[in-house]
Amino acid sequence: MFHHRFHQRAPPQLISSPAGHGDSMAALPRRSLVVHYAEIGTKGNNRAFFETHLEKNLLEKLRPLGDYQAELVNQRLVVSGPPTARWDEAVAALKEVFGVAWLARVVECPLDYPSVKAAAVEELEAAKLATGAATFRVTSRRANKGYPLSSQQMAVKLGEDLAKETGLEVDLSHPGATLFVEILSDRMIVHTLKERGPGGLPVGVTGKVVHLLSGGIDSPAAAWLMMKRGCDLTYAHFYVAPRPEDILDTKMARTLRSLARFGPGGGRMVLLPFTDYQVATRDLRTDFEPVVFRHFMRVVAEKVAHRVGAVALSTGDNLGQVASQTLYNLACIDAGASMPILRPVLGYDKSEIISLAERIGTYQDSIEEYKDCCSIVSRHPRTRMKVEDVLEASRSYDFPALAEGVLSQSSAMKLDANTGVVSVEPAEPAPRVKGRG
Ligand code: ATP
Ligand code: MG
Repeated sequence: MFHHRFHQRAPPQLISSPAGHGDSMAALPRRSLVVHYAEIGTKGNNRAFFETHLEKNLLEKLRPLGDYQAELVNQRLVVSGPPTARWDEAVAALKEVFGVAWLARVVECPLDYPSVKAAAVEELEAAKLATGAATFRVTSRRANKGYPLSSQQMAVKLGEDLAKETGLEVDLSHPGATLFVEILSDRMIVHTLKERGPGGLPVGVTGKVVHLLSGGIDSPAAAWLMMKRGCDLTYAHFYVAPRPEDILDTKMARTLRSLARFGPGGGRMVLLPFTDYQVATRDLRTDFEPVVFRHFMRVVAEKVAHRVGAVALSTGDNLGQVASQTLYNLACIDAGASMPILRPVLGYDKSEIISLAERIGTYQDSIEEYKDCCSIVSRHPRTRMKVEDVLEASRSYDFPALAEGVLSQSSAMKLDANTGVVSVEPAEPAPRVKGRG
């Protein structure tokens, strides 16, 4: 039901070039990307905070590809690029950025019907060529409530005109192609293809977390899930090799690189030597080893968290997957913890973790041979350790002091976001700890 028809056709609008980003508007129509976020649109007063992070993360991801810019328009980000922009590469890069619900290569055009029609004809012709579609529909959204056509009116009018111009038929239920129009406050956007992003929240918005990363399959997948919820991760890894530099030649460096793809700012892994623990606890009962060592790793990771300002820990623990991962043993590992210990793959079956690891590109490295601490401590744990026994071990070996000692010998492996170089450097010196006894 149309209350009034859109008959007063506006004269072709002269796009003036006022101060500010007038220049970019003057260039319309132009090709660009539109990025939609889902969840972060619902965060009320915090929205600007989320949007800023998303924008920063998107631009950082695009930096190696050229000079891209982002602009927030009606709760979506419009990403414009240099004349030489390779949009396929840009789309591929942004599809991995958390917080992106979906994105599309679009044509931006001035806010008038003749312009949007011209752009829509061109896009639909291109889609027809590419896909062989014989039918189409128009799906329209109007963020600019002041524009004289409603979404519905725009869809009908454009649908009629496109059918005439392209020879395609309208099919609302099973269209061969869909022409999307977004009517924004200062421009319109037209596209035919939506691509899904990973969803989630922009990395950095929920806070800092120390993630215990092993050479296994599970903890890299768990790291990805933590980043998906907006966490900024510092990795902590216990190594057996004689020197921290040796880790540069292992899969741990490659895993750091793989995971860095999903967050801004490169990557950072605190390397913690295993030797002191091994020597100090040499007389520990072998069936206690797995759980007591995991408890110790947790104690050290908390100290790392205090240093880097993290407020939680995360691991790749599952439930019931290996003997050390019973509810009783997890309780022993967590006993006395001062911060939450998050285990995002807990709800996954092993086959689901493997699929995820394959999808994010960490699987091949994870199955490669590597001498990890957990292959040194006994593989035959008790499935029902008692909290008192673990706390007793912690007291008798003075875990707080032992942990300080380990931390003081730690190093940091870093991936530089700008150069892509991975290096190992000593961590900031720990405060001196009084020797035991
Ligand atoms: P993963 O595949 O992640 O190693 P897993 O199923 O092999 O997991 P465990 O070896 O018991 O299980 O390890 C449980 C969790 O403890 C790991 O997911 C990881 O978070 C942490 N962890 C194990 N080994 C190390 C290590 N050497 N350094 C840091 N964290 C570790
Ligand atoms: Mg493991």
